[in-house]
Formats: sequence, C-alpha cells, structure tokens
Amino acid sequence: MACLPIRKHPDPVLRKVCDPVTRFDGKLQALAQDMLQTMYDAPGRGLAAPQVGLPVRLFVMDATWKEGARTPLVCVNPAITALGKDTHAREERCLSIPDRPVTVTRPARILMRYQDTAARAQEVELTRDAAAIAQHEADHLDGRLCIDYAEAP
Ligand code: ZN
Repeated sequence: MACLPIRKHPDPVLRKVCDPVTRFDGKLQALAQDMLQTMYDAPGRGLAAPQVGLPVRLFVMDATWKEGARTPLVCVNPAITALGKDTHAREERCLSIPDRPVTVTRPARILMRYQDTAARAQEVELTRDAAAIAQHEADHLDGRLCIDYAEAP
C-alpha cells in the first residue's frame, strides 16, 4: 500500500464529472487500498478518486475510525437516494480544501447502492455523519465541493 498525493482546490480535476468504473481488476483493488491508506494518513473520514487525480466514480470512507473502530467502505459507481425528509447539519471539511470548514445541511438518512471492487452490487443504509460523509464523497464524483454549499455573503 502507498499514500497518494492529494490534489488541492482549485485543481481542475476536482471539477470533473467522473466516469463510471468499468474494469474491476487488481488495479482497482490496489487503488482502493491506497486510497484508504491515504485517507487514514491524512487524516480524514472520506476520500474520492478525483482527489488523487483520477476522474472515476470511486470513493472510500470510514465514519468511525477516529473514535476507535475501523469500518472502511469502498464504494464504486455509487447511487444515493434520500430516505425521508429529515436533515442533518454538520461542519464538513475536505482534504482538498484545508482550513475551510463549511456547515452543510443534507438528508439525514440515505440509501446508497454501489458496487464493491469485485463488481458485486451492494446496498447500505447510512444515517447522520456517515450519510453526510457518503454524500460529500459522492458529490466529488460530480465535481461538486462542500464550499459550493456555503451561502453567498
Ligand atoms: Zn472532500
């Protein structure tokens, strides 16, 4: 495993609409492991492929590791659906935009469908912080950044 350099805003790769992953091979598995290591090393709770310069629909996250238990999630080609109308406001930080926390209000409960690195279809329900992290990372795959949610002065 290796740590990858993290691209910083305004690197144009962060604004790309990323392409679906179509090859589920050893390279994809190695990339996912490198991204997890890069995320833990940063340290962060989520990292999307464009943040390491690759405009493809892949992100990694771990909502709980800073509290002690590692729960890594590798999501390929994710699709997110909000469940219910409840929202959750949370201060978000982005490894690509250091020192610019933004409070973002997002759906508090989501259903996320994705593929694992073996192309198997997966589905997970996430709430609160984990839901926010997944939505933040999925935004990266469409070239959207948390600072876009900041209200205009
Ligand atoms: Zn981010």
